[in-house]
Amino acid sequence: AAVDNSALKEDAYQRIKWNGWGAKHAVMKVDEQDHTVVRHVNGKPIRGLIPFLHKEINGGDGPLPRLEATPGLSLEEALAKLPASVVNDAFIAQVQKGLQPSQIRLDGESRLTHLFGKNYRDLWRLRKGFFERAPDAVVLPQSHDDCVKLVEAAHKHNVVIIPFGGGTNVTGCVEPNPFDPARRMIVSIDMRRMTRMLSIDKESRVATFEVGVMGPDLDEKLGRHGFMFGHDPDSYIYSTLGGWIAARGSGAMSNKYGDIEQMVLSMKIVTPTGVIETPLTSRPCGVDLNGMFIGSEGIFGIITEAVVKVEPIPPVKHYEGYLFPSFEAGYSAFYKCTAKGIHPTCMRLYDEDDTRMSFAMKWDEPAYKTALSKAIKTYLTNVKGFKIEKMCLVILGFEGSRAEVNHQRDLTTPVFRQFDGFCVGQSAGAGWQEKKYDLPYIRDFALAHAHWADVFETSVLYAEAIPCWRAVKEAVRNVWKQHGKRGWIGCHAAHQYRFGCCLYFTFASAQKDDRDLEVFLKLKTAATEAILKHRGNLSHHHGIGFEHVPWIERYFGTPTLDLLLKFKKDVDPKNILNPGKLL
Ligand code: FAD
Repeated sequence: AAVDNSALKEDAYQRIKWNGWGAKHAVMKVDEQDHTVVRHVNGKPIRGLIPFLHKEINGGDGPLPRLEATPGLSLEEALAKLPASVVNDAFIAQVQKGLQPSQIRLDGESRLTHLFGKNYRDLWRLRKGFFERAPDAVVLPQSHDDCVKLVEAAHKHNVVIIPFGGGTNVTGCVEPNPFDPARRMIVSIDMRRMTRMLSIDKESRVATFEVGVMGPDLDEKLGRHGFMFGHDPDSYIYSTLGGWIAARGSGAMSNKYGDIEQMVLSMKIVTPTGVIETPLTSRPCGVDLNGMFIGSEGIFGIITEAVVKVEPIPPVKHYEGYLFPSFEAGYSAFYKCTAKGIHPTCMRLYDEDDTRMSFAMKWDEPAYKTALSKAIKTYLTNVKGFKIEKMCLVILGFEGSRAEVNHQRDLTTPVFRQFDGFCVGQSAGAGWQEKKYDLPYIRDFALAHAHWADVFETSVLYAEAIPCWRAVKEAVRNVWKQHGKRGWIGCHAAHQYRFGCCLYFTFASAQKDDRDLEVFLKLKTAATEAILKHRGNLSHHHGIGFEHVPWIERYFGTPTLDLLLKFKKDVDPKNILNPGKLL
């Protein structure tokens, strides 16, 4: 059916920041009266952030200095730096025949907002105006048929197209390839007008969606029928179903609801050589076609629709916090649970550095809670012998019926106690739920105040998890040392599988000049090398994008890479789909 978008006042990208995270008005700021306090986007005071930047990142002591503001380019200045557009008139003319005028955007602001993803490097380049190439147009399809028309036109006129979901990737997945030899027109295909739930089969518990739908909208649509999806990445509010599939995402509750590859049953993909529809079945036979497109990062085709499994909304969601005397102790508790077949919905273990960071980001709580936290700390240090600097926080979540939750908790608690885990109650779980989408706002704040922060992650076999955790942190710290710099790195372990888990690193440092970005790239290289040495994956859920391509041949091996390149050539002979990514 044709989509009526006459009521649409703004497209999703027009509501969010071009150079940061979230809605345009949502900004963390230094308090106007007290320069040691930061105001959260919700207005609540965060007292630990500036001391954290000062002490942990810069090794300062004594009184807190006033944070230096480092504003980036204004929108007008950034627009002035956009490279001249390359416009393929024949392509535009063909697209204009099939689509409405409001679906085709050639203006600077549309181009700028589709230039990069959301990692530190992306945001730094936006703030400084470092862009050699930008999309020349943004097109907003409203249906599968629109995508077919677009891909046909792009193929015919040799125009590059980059599928764009929420643009929240952090591995350079949507930026134009600066190495593309031909100066072809580049068009970003913004999927966020394709948000319909096309059908729901309650008996089989599956639903068909257009894949431009973002997290909250998807769950709202399912919620009307008593279901939810169960995919909760930290980028949930702004990322899309298509992006989750194409980047092989994984959400915080993956232990119970699965990673994205367990959630998708079938897909429609528009490729330059035809439309592929993977069979809808309870289990594929022969070669798993979905596997060819999950994680394909837009290089084989545009995913337009997907049939996904849906979950009944659990009546009980119980999240609580634990403190462990060390990362190793918490990790042993996790490992034991997994080995015994105990699978809480979510188990996140923050190492000592991440734990301190997470406490520093807390906003003010009622006085009784602060007193309770102090009493717990005193008890743990004086009675249980915990060392504050080694203490690690675990967030443990259970979802399901009351009986299921009780049963899983009954199984988990003794294991956690065996390794000296101390339960600090549900308020820690509630606090985590409240703040789990905050980090990108804090990162924006850091960038606007002479600091940077970023993340990377891997999945690793259990035998390598602790050595890999140690080696990565050491490798990163060594790079800082070699360059006479200092910084902070923390890690959390999550997503437990039968044979291994995910290690997720957050790191940050001062941002003084452009050399900091060079050092940052060296840090990432050192971290990736350390990960690979410990048989870690190039990524657990952030994907390959542009940034991990230098390692892809080592990772896949030459014959596999050749095979994938041949497949790419078959489906996309002119290499118009997101060139330079993944392979
Ligand atoms: P985009 O960033 O727009 O695109 C990602 C890739 O998918 C690109 O290669 C693009 O070309 C391709 N693509 C998008 N849509 C389509 C389509 N319809 N057809 C074909 N290709 C398409 N990821 C997680 O998995 N778990 C997390 O917890 C998580 N937390 C994050 C937290 C923050 C603060 C940030 C910034 C990122 C986080 N990410 C996380 C990474 C990112 O959000 C995911 O990779 C997400 O799946 C990307 O979805 P998107 O809709 O934004 O896709």
